[in-house]
Amino acid sequence: MSKLRFKAVTESMNRWPVQVEESGRRSEMFGRNVFNEEQMLQHFTKDALESVKGAIFSGSKIDRKIADQVAEAMKGWAISMGATHYTHWFQPLTGATAEKHDAFFDLLSDGRALEKFGGGQLVQQEPDASSFPSGGIRNTFEARGYTAWDPSSPAFVYGTTLCIPTIFVSYTGEALDNKAPLLRALHAVDDAATAVAKYFDKTVSKVNATLGWEQEYFLIDKALAHSRPDIVLTGRTLVGNPAAKGQQLDDHYFGVIPNRALSFMMDLEKECTKLGIPVKTRHNEVAPNQFELAPVFEEANLAVDHNLLLMDVMDKIADRHNFKVLFHEKPFEGINGSGKHNNWSLATNTGVNLLSPGSTPMKNLQFLTFFVNTIKAVDTYEELLRSSIASASNDHRLGANEAPPPVMSIFVGEQLSNVLDELEGVSKGKLSPEEKTELKLNVVGKIPEILLDNTDRNRTSPFAFTGNKFEIRGVGSKTNCAKPMTVLNTIVAKQLKDFKKEVDVLVNKKNLKKDEAVFNVLREYIKTSKRIRFDGDGYSIDWEKESKKRKLSNNKNTPEALQVMTSKESLELFKVMNVLSEVELRARQEVELEAYILHIQIEGRVMNELVYNHVLPSCLEYQNKLTENITGLKSIYGTGHEKMTAAQSAILQEIILHINGLKKECDAMTDARKKANTIDGTHKKAMTYCNNVKPFFQKIRYHSDRLERIMDDRLWPLTKYQELLFIK
Ligand code: ADP
Ligand code: MG
Repeated sequence: MSKLRFKAVTESMNRWPVQVEESGRRSEMFGRNVFNEEQMLQHFTKDALESVKGAIFSGSKIDRKIADQVAEAMKGWAISMGATHYTHWFQPLTGATAEKHDAFFDLLSDGRALEKFGGGQLVQQEPDASSFPSGGIRNTFEARGYTAWDPSSPAFVYGTTLCIPTIFVSYTGEALDNKAPLLRALHAVDDAATAVAKYFDKTVSKVNATLGWEQEYFLIDKALAHSRPDIVLTGRTLVGNPAAKGQQLDDHYFGVIPNRALSFMMDLEKECTKLGIPVKTRHNEVAPNQFELAPVFEEANLAVDHNLLLMDVMDKIADRHNFKVLFHEKPFEGINGSGKHNNWSLATNTGVNLLSPGSTPMKNLQFLTFFVNTIKAVDTYEELLRSSIASASNDHRLGANEAPPPVMSIFVGEQLSNVLDELEGVSKGKLSPEEKTELKLNVVGKIPEILLDNTDRNRTSPFAFTGNKFEIRGVGSKTNCAKPMTVLNTIVAKQLKDFKKEVDVLVNKKNLKKDEAVFNVLREYIKTSKRIRFDGDGYSIDWEKESKKRKLSNNKNTPEALQVMTSKESLELFKVMNVLSEVELRARQEVELEAYILHIQIEGRVMNELVYNHVLPSCLEYQNKLTENITGLKSIYGTGHEKMTAAQSAILQEIILHINGLKKECDAMTDARKKANTIDGTHKKAMTYCNNVKPFFQKIRYHSDRLERIMDDRLWPLTKYQELLFIK
């Protein structure tokens, strides 16, 4: 065994679970580190409270004087919580979060020291932001960007820092982050959904999109993870022969959580609870060392922040437990990768889930309205929704028969399919009293409150209705949920706006009753969005053919999937909904393409390193052993005794074959990379990386994995799957 591998394996074997002290009731601990409503009540004046609440509820501005008061209160609270620094916490287009800490500590001109934090520092900061991706929005001469406070997501103390959630925009006002467009999309869907919800209940004045994510991840021993350059630099294994035992026995899913992992989870949940992240569910996932964590759902902006914070907290707590968390969508070949289902719905300020069937025909008509409009929105913009979950790492998963295919479709289940079919048969225009009664009592009225058929059973559907919410299943485990949430809420907002226009025309110009008008428009939508509904096996070849007939997009890789971001329809959509301008959209597409190129480029370089610095030298050593052995035997027994060295020669030949293969493919990949680097135009370059560079990875891996199978274990340099994947 190589020295590095030996050290890592022995170290990991000697680890005991870190003891986590008993912690008492979670409900008492919940939100302890958050400047939440309770803190506001305690620390704010009446004016400040009203002003901040107004900002949260309707986005109204907070004036400077009030901001000073708020800052003073926050500072006092944060210092009492042990904070020494503050930071604007934001989401640059890298997909992660960013922070730059400043101390409260300041010096007066007379040399005295004090703790300072005013409204100015709370509301706006100007980080030197020229090193964040901007897709060309910020030219260097105006490399300024600023962060601005988002009062709808509460500040929190994390470690010794007061973190203030912020948006990040350029000096000229363009969004440079994932939060600003999300907030705009949420605002759009609030407006549109509130207007439609008022058809059914006049008292509704706000609709919040809700999000409940389900985070999957792998836990790997830290020493073992660090012994693999590919895991350290790319977050996944680029080579590695699958262990003899993987997930085929189905013995990990919902199995007993290993001690070490459990103690990590307990520690993690404690920290999350203090930070106000309502974590609820933990369990083993399908693959060995794979786990899932899910919270209670929340308002979407807060849920996105909480998911990003969670990923950061997980990294830190894992370190304390000598683990490394892998969020990559496909860290290991041969076993499942990780995703992050996004459960989504719309909730009114009156406490109603608009995607939940109710007990009366009227409530069900409301449910059907939002249900059918969502289907219609996804049908119209299916390709755009696909683009929002595209990334180099998620490409490994989408369509890999463990995650949904890259073809978007919606699963609604048998019961609701029947309801939609019946509604489709409703006659046009005015309805006779009999028709109305029939509809209300026997179709709409019959939708049960609990939909038995709508379980999670169809795991192959990328967009499934699961009883009282839709679930986007293709989101990658690493992805910032803000991206799919921005698109989904924007398209639903647009759809609801169009719907309202159509209904109003029927009511005002054609004299239809409101419910008749709603039925009429929904019927048309059911007809025209039929192609997106599919309850069958999304993995099957038949569906691939069928979906092509239905003219659904099937973008198998990121550069292809990103194209639609700047189509005429997308530009128009984001513009009319005030979510992203053309400049912002083009910049985002550029950033995503760049990220794709860089990821593949880095993987290519690491692949070279693995082959030339690790695998080849070890194989050559083994080759020497074999040749020595063969010449030794020959010198003793002389020629004519070839049988004596037949086995050794056969192994040697296989090794030579794969060594040659390894070098050949590796060099060809390097050439392809060099060529790709000379290409102008980001899209073309990304396509070239995708089609001409990436395919070599599989070829190189094949030779390396074959060598791993036949090599002397003591000489194999890289920590093996079997060692990485079975924590105790
Ligand atoms: P599972 O999908 O594992 O069977 P559930 O359906 O109970 O489990 O919930 C899965 C996730 O869906 C949870 O994270 C939960 O918070 C979220 N969820 C439940 N209801 C809603 C809703 N109305 N809006 C958004 N997310 C929701
Ligand atoms: Mg689920």
